[in-house]
Amino acid sequence: MSIIVQKYGGTSLGSIERINNVASRIKKWALANYKLVIVVSAMSGKTNELNDLAHQIDKLPNKKSLDFVLSSGEQVSAGLLSISLNKLGFETELFNGSQIPIKTDSNFNKARIESIEKKLIHDALKKNKIIIVTGFQGVNTNNHITTLGRGGSDTSAVAIAAAINAIECQIFTDVDGVYTTDPRLYDKAKRLSEITFEEMLEMAGSGSKVLQIRSVELAGKYKLPLRVLSSLTKPDIDIEIEKNSGTLITFEENITMEKEVVTGIAFNRNETKFTLLGVPDKPGIAHKILLPISKANIEIDVIVQNISKDGLTDFSFTVNKNDSVMVNAIIERLVNELKAQSYICDDNICKIGLVGVGMRSNVGIADKMFSSLAKENVNIQMISTSEIKITVVIDDKYTELAIKVLHDAFELEKN
Ligand code: ADP
Ligand code: ASP
Ligand code: MG
Repeated sequence: MSIIVQKYGGTSLGSIERINNVASRIKKWALANYKLVIVVSAMSGKTNELNDLAHQIDKLPNKKSLDFVLSSGEQVSAGLLSISLNKLGFETELFNGSQIPIKTDSNFNKARIESIEKKLIHDALKKNKIIIVTGFQGVNTNNHITTLGRGGSDTSAVAIAAAINAIECQIFTDVDGVYTTDPRLYDKAKRLSEITFEEMLEMAGSGSKVLQIRSVELAGKYKLPLRVLSSLTKPDIDIEIEKNSGTLITFEENITMEKEVVTGIAFNRNETKFTLLGVPDKPGIAHKILLPISKANIEIDVIVQNISKDGLTDFSFTVNKNDSVMVNAIIERLVNELKAQSYICDDNICKIGLVGVGMRSNVGIADKMFSSLAKENVNIQMISTSEIKITVVIDDKYTELAIKVLHDAFELEKN
């Protein structure tokens, strides 16, 4: 019995016509005798709409209540898809996160999956039903609904696929695979037929929202084949062609071709940079700044600390824009506590990540990146590196220019 988990994103389910299209695609796979578990996102725009409603009442809404609101979008699309499949003559079984249950910790708004109960899924598969599960959500030990962070349906799909030993997890979306950079930003971007888990992790971590980073982590951990493919092609496209389409996320040893030095460029315009100016430069200062932020369960991304004169230091870091109201409140307190001179909060930044496993064995990549940006007068505000990624933070107004310049400099259109 070959089980496949397919996940359909918001745009793929964005209208009744698209939902019917998705149903026709699922029909094709079901008729080819695959056992199917379908994980759905909310219809496009729905989660934003629900989020806005909550924030109209309170700028910092209660997280538990917010999750109750946010999780509802997926229930609508699951039900509509089920009705469409029923109309095509297929029997379905629908579950939301708390019914299965998908057990999570209690970090509302960004909960992590702890376990998945398989019984209901297996029972329904035995009865030859197509299973539809609401993505993006779970339930904590107190039976409160939690959500997994924006883009979390990818993680739901991978977690379910790993739990039930699916042969592949297919992420159907509005592009036909993972590209060298966001194809909506640069039309010279090229689709990659394969990318390593490591590279995909770095791309996702740098802002390529085509896959939520935790879905890539999980698929890598469980060695689960993960494929990104288009839901917008004709649903009756030959299944043998569809099986090999899109982008396969794979292990380095499985990639046969000589790897390019740079595989892709990701960017994230959804971060805010905070800088504490003139903090007394004493041992433990970084810890004192970052502790209250991590205690609030807020992830910190790029960090830079500069020595300045008179025993003072400037300390900068970036966080997701969604967390900036909370971080602002923490920083205001810290300025007094640490006797810092002042602070700056900058929303107009973009983080760019140049990614490639080939970087390990090649020198001069950073220099080429920085000189390409310098030629266009793009000032770099922060830099950080890992073995296979170089990250820079720049003024957001240069994002398009920087991506195009780097894409051209590293000749990614030839990938
Ligand atoms: P879904 O609603 O299906 O989950 P998302 O909007 O979350 O879809 O992710 C798909 C989007 O990711 C694409 O429309 C594209 O604009 C964006 N994207 C960013 N970087 C890349 C990349 N390197 N390759 C492909 N798509 C990318
Ligand atoms: N609907 C949720 C979101 O918009 C989850 C997802 O799409 O994966 O973030
Ligand atoms: Mg998504």
